[in-house]
Amino acid sequence: MAEVSEQRLKLDQKVSIITGGSSGIGEATARLFAKHGALVVIADIEDEKGQEVAASIGSERCTYYHCDVADEQQVISAVNFTVATYGRLDIMFSNAGIVSPSTQTVLDLDLTQFDRLYAINARGTAACVKHAALAMVEKHVRGSIICTGSIAASRGGSSRTDYVMAKHAVLGLVRSASKQLGMHGIRVNCVSPSAVVTALSKRSPEATKKTMKVYGALSSLKGVELTVDRVAEAVLFLASESSSFITGLDLVVDGGLTKLPDEDDMIMYNV
Ligand code: NAD
Repeated sequence: MAEVSEQRLKLDQKVSIITGGSSGIGEATARLFAKHGALVVIADIEDEKGQEVAASIGSERCTYYHCDVADEQQVISAVNFTVATYGRLDIMFSNAGIVSPSTQTVLDLDLTQFDRLYAINARGTAACVKHAALAMVEKHVRGSIICTGSIAASRGGSSRTDYVMAKHAVLGLVRSASKQLGMHGIRVNCVSPSAVVTALSKRSPEATKKTMKVYGALSSLKGVELTVDRVAEAVLFLASESSSFITGLDLVVDGGLTKLPDEDDMIMYNV
């Protein structure tokens, strides 16, 4: 990615937390935020990877902090650490998420896996939004909160019921929090990617290639593939002053894929 000249820094000295910043979308966003002048705290459970990412960005810009978002106390600690270190919190990118090991149609819904996924993807996101907002309100910061949704946040799926439900919950949270926090000048938005290659799906390179081919064929936009850097650009937009009058938005980053009729879910979810 090209270097950004100082006049074009979109997040100059803005203090941010990125959950799930040790890999994938979160890592790409941490790198892009730092390039735009932000101070970044990566909050994740993958300590070694997170520390490596933070070190490669540079200790003057990026710090790693261990935080399991399923544990509210750890979310509070991460927010407190950030405010104690940098004096305030301007941006929360609540992005940490998992998929369950099995496919989870309604008929074979494993409620133990369901609870684990919900604790991270839905409840964890709520904890991050809550404690980021409290820190912003306390310091009178007109901050920006961004949550990672998914195209699964706004349509049903032929499998992964737990994931679809949790992502719908994230969108509900974003819509409600944006209404409730507007009076404090805090914006809350969602970024909702379609398929992008990351560690999330833990697939073989061949299976990943096949998935991306199918998603590419279903997207109306041709000749371009979704990458973590393209998702990060959307997050940067929502974090920065470029979106200063935008709140409660679900910014779908899918090359037009969700404009398809619902029948195509069968193809999307089964690749
Ligand atoms: P990833 O696996 O590369 O990154 C997820 C990160 O979250 C990892 O660093 C992981 O350690 C961290 N994490 C997991 N559980 C955690 C916990 N309890 N506390 C703190 N951190 C935790 O995957 P990714 O694709 O970059 O996923 C990021 C977000 O994007 C997720 O919310 C995911 O649902 C969403 N998403 C991904 C895709 C996709 O196709 N990859 C599509 C739409 C939405």
